[in-house]
Amino acid sequence: MPSTRAAPGGPRLLMRRLREAMAEPVNAQARLDKIVVQVAANMVAEVCSVYVMRADSRLELFATEGLAREAVHQTTLRVGEGLVGLIAETAEPLALADAQAHPSFSYKPETGEEIYHSFVGVPILRGGNTLGVLVIQNRTKRTYTEEEVEVLETIAMLLAEMIASGELQSIARPGTAIAVRRPQALGGSPMSEGVGLGYVVLHEPRVIISKIIAEDVAGEQVRLDAAIETMRANIDTLIDDETTTGEYREVLESFRLFANDRGWLRRLREAVNTGITAEAAVERVQEDSRARMLRSTDHYMRERLHDLDELASRLLHQLTGQSMVASPESLPDNAILVARTMGAAALLDYDRKKLRGLVLEEAGPASHVAIVARALGIPTVGEVENITGIVEQGDAIIVDGTTGEVQVRPAADIEAAYREKARLRARRQEQYRSLRDVPALTKDGVSVGLHMNAGLLVDLPHLDETGAESIGLFRTELQFMVAPQFPRTEKQYQLYKSVMDAVPDKPVTFRTLDIGGDKILPYMTTYEEENPALGWRAIRIGLDRPALLRLQLRAMMRAGAGRELRIMFPMVANVGEFDQAKELALKEVEHLTRHGHPMPRDLKLGVMLEVPALLFQLDELMARVDFVSVGSNDLMQYLNAADRDNRRVANRFDVLSPPALRALKKIADKGAETGTPVALCGEMGGRPVEAMGLVALGFRSLSMSPSSIGPVKAMILKLDAAHLRDHLCGLLAHKDGAASLRPKLQAYAEAKGIPL
Ligand code: PEP
Ligand code: MG
Repeated sequence: MPSTRAAPGGPRLLMRRLREAMAEPVNAQARLDKIVVQVAANMVAEVCSVYVMRADSRLELFATEGLAREAVHQTTLRVGEGLVGLIAETAEPLALADAQAHPSFSYKPETGEEIYHSFVGVPILRGGNTLGVLVIQNRTKRTYTEEEVEVLETIAMLLAEMIASGELQSIARPGTAIAVRRPQALGGSPMSEGVGLGYVVLHEPRVIISKIIAEDVAGEQVRLDAAIETMRANIDTLIDDETTTGEYREVLESFRLFANDRGWLRRLREAVNTGITAEAAVERVQEDSRARMLRSTDHYMRERLHDLDELASRLLHQLTGQSMVASPESLPDNAILVARTMGAAALLDYDRKKLRGLVLEEAGPASHVAIVARALGIPTVGEVENITGIVEQGDAIIVDGTTGEVQVRPAADIEAAYREKARLRARRQEQYRSLRDVPALTKDGVSVGLHMNAGLLVDLPHLDETGAESIGLFRTELQFMVAPQFPRTEKQYQLYKSVMDAVPDKPVTFRTLDIGGDKILPYMTTYEEENPALGWRAIRIGLDRPALLRLQLRAMMRAGAGRELRIMFPMVANVGEFDQAKELALKEVEHLTRHGHPMPRDLKLGVMLEVPALLFQLDELMARVDFVSVGSNDLMQYLNAADRDNRRVANRFDVLSPPALRALKKIADKGAETGTPVALCGEMGGRPVEAMGLVALGFRSLSMSPSSIGPVKAMILKLDAAHLRDHLCGLLAHKDGAASLRPKLQAYAEAKGIPL
């Protein structure tokens, strides 16, 4: 082991002493005091101090050997103030032979530090966040060796454990909280509605390193090399596997590059050379890159550091043999799952009954995991920066999937407020449940069909819970999106059959595969497109790859044997596309009949109206189809030329603007005129104000997410449809250029006592 310039017992002895100090049954202050004495003695320093980051972002002197004792819990520095503040800010070590000559030096008279000239400090890091700073000082102007800095970094790892445990809170100055345990209000993207209160379960638990100091440095080098080799081999195997395609393959390829990156490997080896175990070395290097990642504003750099972080995690699991993911079976009650990112299938492995919420660092509202979380009714917030670095296993946490707020370690009054919110929501849900069997009839006797959108087996129980009339949109692509590989026809058939069986006496409207755009299948070759939303997607893929579409149609027809079967095609832009799709469907009818398969009793073929061009082919369209379903999510994005998933533009245009409402009215009117059933299955149908406007325009069938059925039905029961129709038509006749009629519709509802 390389020795430090002035370490009488060497780092190993120091570490043993520190471990003993950690285990002693004394209070936190006594423990910390012992640690600074040991460190100073072992490293032949006159001063050793520990500064701890407080919730108010001040670094407070928590223990010292050498500086004035009275300064403990009195001296504080802002982040960025003095050398200690600079280390906290940059999360990088600093070693100076003449500290007082440094421009950042800040003199704190109460500490009596003016007699010390040399200074070395290291950040105490966890999850990339600075929890504190560890400093040693000497009177003489001495130059500290790199090894000494490394030893301090190792001690900082121990201190990070101690601070993260929350033990130091007991000795904090009354009225102050230490940063790591402080309550934090974070924000992200709302992904699945509802409020959940519970305790953090890390989907990828932090690796617990029980041994930091190496007994045998050469042996640790061998362990490190072996683990790197195994990890590389695993990555190669995954890349060689032909089912690995698309984005996942790209990620693995960048992992492979990093796993061979000389700089990274050198840093790992150097860390082991300082006398720590292989796993401690990986963690130290990982902390360093995570800290840099959090502080970097360069997008490219962040991505690269992120990959390195991911790779380090794999290596840590390899070295310790600890499982990469939490065991879904051992989930405690009231679990709030926290993950950097997570696949939809992984979420399905957890016991839904115990999950109260989900918080993700990376996934956005359009991700697969978000879709599944919504289907399971798990309150979810995504895009919460560094959440996995901020929370500890078992921390109290609140998720508000409606507003996108996440409260970590909430104060009592915050928790009480959210409990109340959750109670109110539950009461409202209770009221909606009581409406389950009440027919959706307006005050003037108009019946509105309320249907449910679904896409997975887990959605089906909602049908009964909500009293939805049927499934008005079954998004078949979800099965494809959560599967590890392309589902064979038999698998598709099984899913469609289960859906039909779950709704024995009502029709289900299946939509054929709607992929492309934002919906990417990881196992399918993707083509770079400048504008994927305007690209090769949905029915366009189906018509270009007719075998794919025919196999899906076959699975649907077999599942619908003896029943009414409704199939619709997404993203049709001209009626000729419908003709082609219909021809394929008829070929399948012929094929199945020829092979003696029982056929659906009644086959209805329809079109999703999502492309504005169809607005100008309504006569031709209605003459051909058995039904039309408006996909308002896409129709509105194309009508306004505003990407539905781009937060900067998505909210610029209101679906209740006069042009949008006029387009919708045109569709409803043409449906009534030609006797073609017209439904709407986009998100707007599930929002009470929008749904109110739609009923007034003449829509008599709405399909929505299950949680919307209750609120929309409550609105319908209080609505006079004919009265609002007159009112709304009057508003639409105005040519005042209003951006939205929402305020007017809201005012109408309020005046009429319609709950929204
Ligand atoms: C729509 O576009 O409104 C729709 C229902 O389809 P999706 O949201 O799946 O694109
Ligand atoms: Mg759509």
